[in-house]
Amino acid sequence: MPESLDCRSGLPTLPGSLLEDLRAADEILVLTGAGVSAESGIATFREALTGLWARFDPAQLATAEAFREDPTRVWSWYEWRRAQVLVAQPNPAHRALATWAERHGRLRLVTQNVDDLHERAGSRDVIHLHGSLHASRCFDCARPLASPPLPETGDSLVAPPRCAACDGLARPGVVWFGESLPAEALATAWALAERCDLCLVIGTSGLVQPAASLPVVARQQGATVVRIDPQPAADFNGDWQLLGAAGVILPALLGRL
Ligand SMILES: [Zn+2]
Repeated sequence: MPESLDCRSGLPTLPGSLLEDLRAADEILVLTGAGVSAESGIATFREALTGLWARFDPAQLATAEAFREDPTRVWSWYEWRRAQVLVAQPNPAHRALATWAERHGRLRLVTQNVDDLHERAGSRDVIHLHGSLHASRCFDCARPLASPPLPETGDSLVAPPRCAACDGLARPGVVWFGESLPAEALATAWALAERCDLCLVIGTSGLVQPAASLPVVARQQGATVVRIDPQPAADFNGDWQLLGAAGVILPALLGRL
């Protein structure tokens, strides 16, 4: 059973063994999820089904079938979400992770988030397991396509741009339901899990497979696995849970290393 520390009103004195593992880590793998973006005001996938979008379910907005059926509807939904991201700012959790990586050198960031807040906070080589809202590509030939600099927002429907090479439609660069995770990103994340000695799982209650296996693999080969989230996860099978906001815990943690 993991040990839990209540960090809702700040970081308490850390047990020596945890502090030692944090300080001694040679290779660090950080997995982030929706909770980290939520602290910047980014709605989760389901929370974003509001207003114009409330009458749709994910299958009507986040599958290749839905895109074939109504590309404008699907494109507009992702452009609306991209617009929300572009006005949001990285929070102290994003910035602390970027600083940690800069100081440590061997910290790699794997995220389930499709926004660019880690990058805008200064993190480099972020591995996006679920793709990115900011990397659209041709639905037909997969060529990367530039997104309009500022998406049209709100209630308007906007048709996807077309590919200059094949006239196919632009699709968002996110992983849809029924699609595989990007193979290279997954392989890199897997290799990191197999050799890290510290694995931080931040802002996610349940990683979906195959990402959910990453902390399991890390722990099996001897890494310390620490989860940071406001809510305890009943099925978390790591060493420590730090319960509180990542934007509070991570900067404080960094200050103690
Ligand atoms: Zn094309």
